[in-house]
Amino acid sequence: MTSIETRLQQTRDSINEARERFGRTDAVQLLAVSKTKPAEQVREAYQYGQRAFGENYVQEGVDKVKTLADLEGIEWHFIGPIQSNKTRPVAESFDWVHSVDRLKIASRLSEQRPADLPPLNICLQVNIDNEASKSGFTPEQVLEVAEQVIALPNIVLRGLMAIPAPSETEEEQRKPLRAMSELLHELQKRFPELPLDTLSMGMSDDMAAAIAEGATIVRVGTAIFGAR
Ligand SMILES: *Cc1c(COP(=O)(O)O)cnc(C)c1O
Repeated sequence: MTSIETRLQQTRDSINEARERFGRTDAVQLLAVSKTKPAEQVREAYQYGQRAFGENYVQEGVDKVKTLADLEGIEWHFIGPIQSNKTRPVAESFDWVHSVDRLKIASRLSEQRPADLPPLNICLQVNIDNEASKSGFTPEQVLEVAEQVIALPNIVLRGLMAIPAPSETEEEQRKPLRAMSELLHELQKRFPELPLDTLSMGMSDDMAAAIAEGATIVRVGTAIFGAR
């Protein structure tokens, strides 16, 4: 079996290859998605220099945050669906939430963010392909929702997140990803005073296409930790 160290290095190499291929001179952050994987594997990835980890399930994520509290500089990103009665543990334990898909979730996260922690970084999840099965705001809703979210005191709107529908070719993959990039540019133009620097898109299968279209955070699970 290939080690986490090797797979982590291969993933970093793929990110850098894509950056070179598409002329990206800015950084692309690797978010290691550790859902369903034991805390010990997160610790191992940390030992090989990985700092940002993504979790999808509230209880599992909160447990890992506690277990690994000794790891300095570790950064926890919540990327899964959130029920409104589960916002408190997320607000208390995580540094980022990528999957804000309702205004109510944003306002509860802001309300419940402990005063002794820095503001919670959030992204609005966009249902970029208008899929009935996926949560997220429609592209048309994003500007208006952003206006309401930025008024909330204890969260900082950093950008947008999407999980596009699967496509066969890189060319096809790039279409919705490009639409996300354009949407972020609209937001940046509308709110030039905000730190809107984040496009969270690209997973194991569409990472290169996402980097081509301006992803700043790619979310990779299987390629690092193996199949779930
Ligand atoms: C699971 C998950 C990932 C990682 O997916 P892999 O196919 O394992 O790389 C990325 N983003 C989200 C939102 C996920 O739920």
